[in-house]
Amino acid sequence: MLYLVPTPIGNLEDITLRALRVLGQEVSVILAEDTRTTRRLLARYDIRTPLRAFHAHNEHAAVGRVVAELAAGTAMALVSDAGTPGISDPGFLLVRACRQAGVRVECLPGPTAFVPALVASGLPCDRFHFEGFLPHKKGRQMRLKYLATLPHTFVLYESPYRLLRCLTELVEVCGPDRMACLARELTKLHEEIATAPLAELLSTYSNREVKGEMVLVVSGKSEKTAHQLPEVNDE
Ligand code: SAM
Repeated sequence: MLYLVPTPIGNLEDITLRALRVLGQEVSVILAEDTRTTRRLLARYDIRTPLRAFHAHNEHAAVGRVVAELAAGTAMALVSDAGTPGISDPGFLLVRACRQAGVRVECLPGPTAFVPALVASGLPCDRFHFEGFLPHKKGRQMRLKYLATLPHTFVLYESPYRLLRCLTELVEVCGPDRMACLARELTKLHEEIATAPLAELLSTYSNREVKGEMVLVVSGKSEKTAHQLPEVNDE
């Protein structure tokens, strides 16, 4: 059995009772993206299950051995540094290999950064596209142009170092008036959720230092924000 266990994206209280039970009692090994980060979380809850490194740089090499151990009966959990494994984090390769080998996989529900960003943005969240990180170089412009055509909200992960570049590019492809939201430091002390037209976000964040982790939520091409929607009578 492989458990995918979401971990807090900032506030260490955001972990479920089930996640704590699985990590502390159900598994013999925890595969961790960064064992130091996970050790801090486990220490907070007095969990002493052994950790093993499983990250983007060793997953291709490690996956065969891990699946063999799982198939032989060792229960393991996979965690990433924060949020849900497999969401812009290692996990997919291992899950696919487990499914192919007939190993049972269970993903616990739990924290992930894009859901609170999307839902708190005030932008339509009935339909959305999750993009995650844009490529830094090759293919970036193509993705941006594609995203600009989407009729529904889309969600990007971005680093503070590339925020201004990303906002500038989004203004270029989506236009200055497209509504967007910057959700920063979610669940942490300096959480900030700012929804405004793209050009306004660009001007605001050009004039101040931006730190921390962030999600960008951008409304779709033909959508208007709820307060701009005309009254519609469906009857
Ligand atoms: N697996 C994670 C998830 O489920 O959301 C995502 C991991 S990805 C490597 C890290 C990115 O997630 C960050 O660069 C940022 O875009 C976003 N992120 C993670 N924690 C966040 C937070 N507390 N506030 C805003 N964005 C966050």
